[in-house]
Amino acid sequence: MQFMINKKPVLLRIILAFWIVLLLIQICCNMPQIQHPFGTQATRLAEELLAVDQKILQQSTAQHYSMIIQKLSGEQPVIINNEEMYLRSRYSYAMFLDYPDARVMPYLTEQVLQWVKPDQVEIDPYTYTDAERSYTWQNLIVTIPGQTTPDEKILLTAHFDSIVVQGGDALKYAPGADDNATGTAVLLEAVRLFADESFEKTIEIIFFSGEEEGLNGSRAYLEDHSYDNIQAVINVDMIGFDSNNDHCMEIHAGTNPDSQIIGLVIQQVIIAYDIDLQSELLSNTATDRSDHASFWARNVPAITVIENFFDTATSDVCALPDPNPDYHQNEDTLANINITYAHDISQAILLTITQLAIPIE
Ligand SMILES: [Zn+2]
Repeated sequence: MQFMINKKPVLLRIILAFWIVLLLIQICCNMPQIQHPFGTQATRLAEELLAVDQKILQQSTAQHYSMIIQKLSGEQPVIINNEEMYLRSRYSYAMFLDYPDARVMPYLTEQVLQWVKPDQVEIDPYTYTDAERSYTWQNLIVTIPGQTTPDEKILLTAHFDSIVVQGGDALKYAPGADDNATGTAVLLEAVRLFADESFEKTIEIIFFSGEEEGLNGSRAYLEDHSYDNIQAVINVDMIGFDSNNDHCMEIHAGTNPDSQIIGLVIQQVIIAYDIDLQSELLSNTATDRSDHASFWARNVPAITVIENFFDTATSDVCALPDPNPDYHQNEDTLANINITYAHDISQAILLTITQLAIPIE
């Protein structure tokens, strides 16, 4: 895309300005030093991100992104092991008891293995216990190893499970197009686009299950994986609903300054690439109702990106909430999704991940 040619210096200037302002604020106000992992590389980012970012802008089209959502929400068939089928439910209870229309884990696994090697893919089982009994559920973790500082990790996460809470049978049908095929599709795009690229830091792309029953997948991940070297987590949960077409989205960062910096980087990317979005960065009004909260509990910097779902406006930006009325219902289908909006958020997130992980060309 042609406009990219001009974006390079603009991005560099904006990022530099951002860090200078942050530094000045720290110096003037004698604030405690914010331990951020990204500042020292800021000057290098814009010089080195171009090829992979052009790839994102050119290859991850709205049409392709929409097709992934259609497949994940049962509107279009998928091919698993040469057999055509539909993914009509992503309810964890259905997926992990091998219900015929819920073979999501084999589908995701087969998809990512098109792009990465088997040793980059971990199927991460955990025990989920409800009032009745215990189950074995699974997360899917894809690792793009860092070339320079592989111990430093940037995480891109989303829950791929869905639920229908009234007027349906989630074991048979739970399309969850907005919640959260929109987020899961961003992760599939990340694996596809980043698999052949080199980054300084390690990128982990994690598909969590069991979110709808209480953030179980993310909590289990933190119980059996080291989290000391996770520098940033971007969790994506419901980015498709924008009925008033105001392009508003929310970044739930909480009060940890390191989490807020992740949100600021997303906002800088939106400006630098002239993406048609407005965003609200939330601190003490941030929600804990998605998988980022499992990371907060361990003091790992994390944010969730979501449509303008909550009534949390702190300014004129995105003042009126615009929640999806079909959330957790049979009608959460592609028909209610504003694909242009969802795709814009997807692009902003993918571009932010490359900023944080630092491409090597
Ligand atoms: Zn969700």
